[in-house]
Amino acid sequence: PKGLDYDCEYLPCHKALEACDFCYCPFYPCADGLTGGEWIKNKDVWSCQHCDWIHLEEPCQAVRKGLEDILEDKNDLKAKHMELLKLRRECLLKTLK
Ligand code: SF4
Repeated sequence: PKGLDYDCEYLPCHKALEACDFCYCPFYPCADGLTGGEWIKNKDVWSCQHCDWIHLEEPCQAVRKGLEDILEDKNDLKAKHMELLKLRRECLLKTLK
């Protein structure tokens, strides 16, 4: 989707929600608590429950633009994880307030 997905049964899934474009975050697991994510103790699972950043309009637009140069097919989400994390850092620098 682009923008808010009013058909989604989970809306609103985050406190600050402006866009559902990245319901599935392309950076998962980023392992960077700066945007609110955290490891769940004793489970080795990364939780994005408190990360609103990827659901805000400005970061969404920045990420969308950068992804065009990196992703050619869905396997790239795993194969190019480090490249994706570099894109995340660039977008954070541009958009984190
Ligand atoms: S914490 Fe945020 S940026 Fe990191 S993987 Fe989760 S949703 Fe993506």
